[in-house]
Amino acid sequence: MIDGPAGGVAAIGDGDGVAGIGVGDDVGLVVVSHSRALARAAVAMAAEMLQGRPVRIEVAAGLDEETLGTDAVAILAAVERADGPAGVVVLMDLGSAVLSAEMALELAGDPSLRERVTLSAAPVVEGLIVAAVAAAGGASRAEVAAEASDALLGKLAHLGIPAEGTTADTVTGETGTGQTESGEIGTVSAETVGEFSVENAHGLHARPAARLVGEVRGLAATVHLRNLTSGAGPVPAASLSQVATLAALRGHEVEVRASGPQRKEAVERILALAARRFDEPVEPAAGPQAPAVTAPQAPAVTASPSGSVTASPSVPLPEPLSATRSGPLPGAPGIAVGRLRRLSTVPVDLDHPATGDPAQEWQRIEESIAATRCDIEQLRDRTTREVGAGEAGIFDAHLALLADDEILHAVKARTETGIGAAAAWAGCLAEVERRFAGLPDPYLRERAADVHAVSDQVLARLTGQTPRQVTAPGVLVASDLTPAEAAGLDVDLVTGVVLASGSATSHAAVLARARDLPLVVGAGGDVLTVPEGTTIVLDGSTGEVHFDPLPEVLAEFRRRAADLAERRGQHQARAGEPAVTLDGTRILVAANVGSVAEARSSMAAGADGVGLVRTEFLFLGRSTAPDRDEQQADYEAIAEAMAGRRVTVRTLDVGGDKPLPYLAMPVEANPFLGRRGIRLSLEHRDMLRDQLIAVCRTARRFPISVMYPMVSTVGELLEARRVLTDAAGPSGIPAGLKVGMMVEVPAAALRIETFLAHLDFVSIGTNDLTQYTLAAERGNGAVAALSDALDPAILVLVDRVCRAARGRVDVAVCGEAAADELAIPVLVGLGIRELSVSPSAVPRVKAAVRELDVARCATLARQACSVAGPGEVRKLVLAMRAESTG
Ligand code: PEP
Ligand code: MG
Repeated sequence: MIDGPAGGVAAIGDGDGVAGIGVGDDVGLVVVSHSRALARAAVAMAAEMLQGRPVRIEVAAGLDEETLGTDAVAILAAVERADGPAGVVVLMDLGSAVLSAEMALELAGDPSLRERVTLSAAPVVEGLIVAAVAAAGGASRAEVAAEASDALLGKLAHLGIPAEGTTADTVTGETGTGQTESGEIGTVSAETVGEFSVENAHGLHARPAARLVGEVRGLAATVHLRNLTSGAGPVPAASLSQVATLAALRGHEVEVRASGPQRKEAVERILALAARRFDEPVEPAAGPQAPAVTAPQAPAVTASPSGSVTASPSVPLPEPLSATRSGPLPGAPGIAVGRLRRLSTVPVDLDHPATGDPAQEWQRIEESIAATRCDIEQLRDRTTREVGAGEAGIFDAHLALLADDEILHAVKARTETGIGAAAAWAGCLAEVERRFAGLPDPYLRERAADVHAVSDQVLARLTGQTPRQVTAPGVLVASDLTPAEAAGLDVDLVTGVVLASGSATSHAAVLARARDLPLVVGAGGDVLTVPEGTTIVLDGSTGEVHFDPLPEVLAEFRRRAADLAERRGQHQARAGEPAVTLDGTRILVAANVGSVAEARSSMAAGADGVGLVRTEFLFLGRSTAPDRDEQQADYEAIAEAMAGRRVTVRTLDVGGDKPLPYLAMPVEANPFLGRRGIRLSLEHRDMLRDQLIAVCRTARRFPISVMYPMVSTVGELLEARRVLTDAAGPSGIPAGLKVGMMVEVPAAALRIETFLAHLDFVSIGTNDLTQYTLAAERGNGAVAALSDALDPAILVLVDRVCRAARGRVDVAVCGEAAADELAIPVLVGLGIRELSVSPSAVPRVKAAVRELDVARCATLARQACSVAGPGEVRKLVLAMRAESTG
């Protein structure tokens, strides 16, 4: 009996009696097949040969008893079960079995597991039988794998087919000229040969080359390419870096030569792909060069005197890039006028402390590559959604570079000589970049920039540094910013930001507002092609951006900037006074901060306290977590800056769009719905405990509150409270420490009554509450219009929380809605008595509160909860305003 646990993974073990097989220190085997029946039969045949000698054989086959298919998760589970000190050899049948097995290894949480696994190209039945026999005899993993590879030799000899044959079968494609003589199919070492001619305007450049590499990877075939026109090559077709060095231009003839069981399929696929011009749109003959790496084939914006991203009387609106993109949107208020600047690379520290242990250094590289892969995949997916799949294709080329065996082997070989991870990676990639830069074709030469970008991304991960920054004063234009990059911008240089993608509730936008940086998001890929140094004006309240503006447009923006400055001056003059409504209700206006510097600015802005310390910004942009002493020093410095006003520290909220390079985070399809906030902290309990120790120590000297982010269940809250009790130690939780949670998940709002008994306060995070309630990812520009905190669905949830909490605990709002002048009357009307906003918004929010009448706001709020949509809510607010001023 070889049935394993549910899920289709069968196992042979002592208990199941198939071959008297037990678990020892020998190599384990895994059979991956589309068919469960086939795998079982193969195992049964192997068991016959073993005659009771113990071998671990695990099966991951079929999606269920009948359905053909392979499942990477089941394969990983089988590999883990088969794993032992001698490692594992995996035998696979064809096609997606190989891909799924590769994916299973990518999914492995334990990187050392990958080191212990060999994926064998051997045929499953013959391979398994000889591998099982070898493993039972105590052979090493390499020996078992070699045995499996030679599994067909016996059959070949029997049939009289030479093992080292050079016979070739031929495949011709639409564009291929093919060879004439046909050879044997079915021999192990026979070759299949084909030819194609390159028809793409830019030749076999990064994207088609990446498509080609993708076609070949995962096939049980060794494929080489040769440029017949120039004589370059042969090079392995599975290596993007090598394929590019063929410098195959339009019209060049390329030979494809493959060996291995799937050689014919490999050649056929490549020729078919070439016939489809590598799935690229038909282009005119190579003309002006396409934009560089980070501007993936975006249609060029000409920064002519009339170039612009938004409509204005004097400036025409260019064609939108896609129907789904919602166009430039306001990200953070303010006017900026300056020269266009881009992020440039700062030299990273190649002597970044190395462990001295090659295995560890290589592991660090693998982890950094995995993290970079996630970053690039996210960017590619976002570009696909917001701009188009064609433009996103360049990121596939970046991903292929990260998976390039040639590069990885070269880097690993360097680490094995004792060179540290950063230097090994940088050195190898610099060589690859030089190879590209030395190619004769100008377009291919530009691909050196791809290598550079990818190299930098991995280096940044390796060294924990933020690699990109602005080096001259002006307005930053970038595709997107990570939170760490947004946090790291030098506001003395950067006066405004325009992002090609992103949305107003992304963390980058939150940070821009916090840093008083005018921001426009979702401006589209065209902006990335405007030359550095071009004059640019933007209004972050309206989303307008103009490149090289006409004099009258420039004058208009300067006038707006002056008006804004005057209004800000009036608000600032009263910033230190409390915010009291017309009918005498005090509304606390606190600040959201991510650093000691921001705490100081919030004091200067008149904040009544800190309603949210985003502690993750103390953890981001570095290579290790701050220890409890360092955290305590930071929290105390923030508390000291606030001079006795209460400070609410939120425990670490990473995950989602805020990954921590040094915290192992699984690759997740939907990170915002995955391990984030309190979920991740509870998985890294020691880190949470350290943080809470630092909070408790600070709370013994200062008025401190602590709150947990992204709580969905009471169980999570109680568990987090237990860690707090543990962190507080024998002296107990400090008397002045208030304990609260954020309401950001609809489940928490809907069941708030069950949480309240365990809380001193709640703070509603409208950014995430909106994202989760409307199922509109906060960083996704394509759904930015849906992601509106004034949607009545959100107001109903806020209302629910306020009603349940009334007279029991305080309710604050710390999401961006708290600073929205049209949202403030509704929130106050619903019962919110604390608004926590970015430091720079404090004076303006106080001024807005001073114009309100709570009773009228309550009536307004009741109506707002039952209208059709956020547009109607805004109309109600504007009508109330008009009534009170008129
Ligand atoms: C929120 O979600 O509203 C919030 C304040 O938290 P963050 O923006 O840091 O996720
Ligand atoms: Mg949040």
